[in-house]
Amino acid sequence: MKIIDAHVHLYPEPIIEKECTVSEEPVNDLLMNLSKKITKNNISQAVVYILDEKILSQDITIPKNLIVSTTVGIQKNYQLDIKKASYKNIKILKILPYDQKIFRKQYPKIRELAQLAKDQKMVLSICSTYGSKMIYDTNGVELATYIKKSVDLPIILAHGGGPKIFDAMSISLDYEDVFLDLSFSLKYWWNSSVIKDYAFAVKKLEGSRCFYGSDYPYVSFKESMSYFLKFITKYDISDEDKKQILTNNFEEFKKRYL
Ligand SMILES: [Zn+2]
Repeated sequence: MKIIDAHVHLYPEPIIEKECTVSEEPVNDLLMNLSKKITKNNISQAVVYILDEKILSQDITIPKNLIVSTTVGIQKNYQLDIKKASYKNIKILKILPYDQKIFRKQYPKIRELAQLAKDQKMVLSICSTYGSKMIYDTNGVELATYIKKSVDLPIILAHGGGPKIFDAMSISLDYEDVFLDLSFSLKYWWNSSVIKDYAFAVKKLEGSRCFYGSDYPYVSFKESMSYFLKFITKYDISDEDKKQILTNNFEEFKKRYL
């Protein structure tokens, strides 16, 4: 079965600080190494999230099996960053409510950003993990819902919401262009009731709108696949839904929006 990994990172070690300053590293070499690595792991294509918008001012060569997404400056310069991303044909913009400290009072600004992204026919991917010291200050699923009320652009809820999976599921049921990726969460919440809720959500969505993802290098390619397969078996998810999650849903998404 063809595998598309809808969530990987560029820097090969799980160090978030490196990820956020990755423009200081040899980006083209990192892209090439990642491209080889996904092929070695039988993944036909991957979305690579680059969390440093400074790469938008660099000359980057994107290997064919990678789809690049970048952050944009939230506090300043997002207008210019969106233009630069559009010029480079980057179609997915990553928003990280936790790392970029996006609290409720900034939501109107993010809505403006979303409108500019929509004008360029882009997609937003919003980090939707739930937890950390700022557990009550940032919330990706809430931000996505806020944006969708007034700006009609596709949104990926990266990691699927964690314990907020039902919230993520319910907005995805109502908007056919809100997607969930399963990266990180299956491993992180394994053996907790959250995983049962992920299975419920996948079934409720009839296998649609969900993308397979690893969150490499925070979860290795092999480990991620093994949790995904355990999940499929344990919760009796059909072969058809499995294929949708691993391949078809993302292929369809690419055709429509990228
Ligand atoms: Zn990630």
